[in-house]
Parts: sequence; C-alpha cells; structure tokens
Amino acid sequence: MKKQHNIFADLHTHSTASDGLLTPAQLMESAREKGLAVLGITDHDTVAGLAEARHAAEKNGVRLVPGIELSCGWKGRDTSVHVLGLYIDENASDLQKLLNEQREQRYHRALKMVNQLAVIGLDVAELRQRFEQSPEKVLGRPHIARYLQERGYVKDFQGAFERYLSRGKPGYVAKDHVLPEIGIDVIHAAGGIAVIAHPGLTSDWADVWKCISGLPWDGIETYYSEHTPSDVKRFAELASQHNLLSTGGSDYHGEYGKHADRLGNYGLTQELYYDLVNQCAEKGINIA
Ligand code: AMP
Ligand code: ZN
Ligand code: FE
Ligand code: FE
Repeated sequence: MKKQHNIFADLHTHSTASDGLLTPAQLMESAREKGLAVLGITDHDTVAGLAEARHAAEKNGVRLVPGIELSCGWKGRDTSVHVLGLYIDENASDLQKLLNEQREQRYHRALKMVNQLAVIGLDVAELRQRFEQSPEKVLGRPHIARYLQERGYVKDFQGAFERYLSRGKPGYVAKDHVLPEIGIDVIHAAGGIAVIAHPGLTSDWADVWKCISGLPWDGIETYYSEHTPSDVKRFAELASQHNLLSTGGSDYHGEYGKHADRLGNYGLTQELYYDLVNQCAEKGINIA
C-alpha cells in the first residue's frame, strides 16, 4: 500500500515481548507521537506485553486493542496462516495454556537452531547464552537473524534468512503447527475476534483459502501495509462477500529493515475504524 494519511487505528504491531524493537511502553508513546488514537499490539504467540501496554496507553491517551498474532499452519506444509486475535481477554485460560505450550516449544527449537549453526562453525555462544537466560521469551528466527547481522555473518537481516534460516538452510528447524481452527477457537474463547492476517503475503492463497474459507473467521486484514492497491480491493470484496469484517494495520516491528517508518502510515482511517466497530455491534460483538 502507499503511505496513507489520517490513520486513526493501527491494529497490528509487535513489541519486544516478541520480535519487535520497542517495548510496549515505547510503542504506545510512538503511537501517540504519530497521532494514532487506537493501537493494537499483536505480538507473535504471546500476550506478555499487554499489561505494560495498558498502563502506557492510559498515560498516552491512546486506546489499546489487546491482541495476539498466532502462527498457525498444517503439519508437513510450508505455508503458515497467521491468525490475529483482537480485543482478547489475555487472561483467558485456554489461551494461556496454548501459549505456554508454544513458548516451550519455541525455546527448544531456538536452541536446536543455534546448535545447528554451531555445527557449521558459527560462533553462537553468546546467542545461546541469551536464549538460555530467557526461557520466558517467545524466541524466533528474527532474534537469530539480528545476532548474525550483529556478528557480521550476514550483511543484513534478510541475508540471514537467505543463507541460514529459511526452510532448507542449515539453521532451519520447523515449528510445531497449531491448526488455524484451534487458533480461532482459542481466540473466541478469549472473547476476541479472529482475523486472517496479511492474506496478500500468502503465496498459495487460492489453495489456502480453500482450506480455511469454511472456518468461523470474523475478519480479514484487508488494509495491510504490504498489500498492493489491488490486494486491498480483492480482500475488501472477499470480506464483504463472506460477511467478514475488514481490519488493518502496519505490522510495525520498530525502525529496522522493511518495518521502518510504518507506524502511523498504515491501518484504518477513523471512518474505517468506526465501520469496524459498527459492524461488530451488528454481529453482537461489543468492542467499543
Ligand atoms: P519464526 O516464527 O521463528 O519461524 O519466525 C518467523 C518470522 O521471521 C516472521 O514473522 C518474519 O518476521 C520473519 N521471517 C520469516 N521469513 C523471512 C524472510 N525470508 N525474510 C525476512 N524475515 C523473515
Ligand atoms: Zn514478527
Ligand atoms: Fe504475520
Ligand atoms: Fe505481524
């Protein structure tokens, strides 16, 4: 998408609770500086940043939308489906249980990836130590990519994926998959709405849509920062055909790589945000 003006609500961002660079409080402060009235924090597979975010939201006069981005998929299949949960109660027990299991799996996976990199001769002792000291964090490939960049093994973040971390490369370890329908159920049990994240980034979207179109989705992330104008058009149409909401957000992770400069420039205008609120009300979901 082109940079937009008058963005009122950004319903997709990441903090240090997952792989973002800003703490939840810093993210809220930046949201205020960028003129956002509503900010959704949707860390990957964790709600650990939301308590701090809530505090900071109040201080900065920004409305927090408590959220999450669950990495879902199918065993043996390359494609993943990211499921956004918005307006969730982060203390819901099913959600907490799923996230604890996921975090543990990610911790073991991260150490496996580090070991594989050590086997091919990279000095990853410091990274291993960082990981071992933070079992409470949701560890992922971006943490490794940044380390490889810091150490000069690759010239940039992207290069770390190309050389070491993508499927088939020496550092890669597959994740255990949570089925999209499980993700949706858990989000619903937590009182939230379940939204298909960034469908335009899914390379085999037509196949994926066949697999997931029958699931009880509430919405599609139509207004996503990396969607082209034609993506926005086709997903807005798909949403209205299937009586789904359209949400929107930047996927801001802090000022690095492709995520830089996104905050405040992508998401929903005030009009689109209130369309969302009103459509939720019509469906009996109260998010106001
Ligand atoms: P993980 O959940 O540990 O598998 O890491 C997935 C995250 O890594 C994604 O959310 C992206 O932020 C990032 N990522 C995955 N593939 C690439 C890639 N080819 N280039 C850059 N970032 C990527
Ligand atoms: Zn991320
Ligand atoms: Fe995503
Ligand atoms: Fe994201």
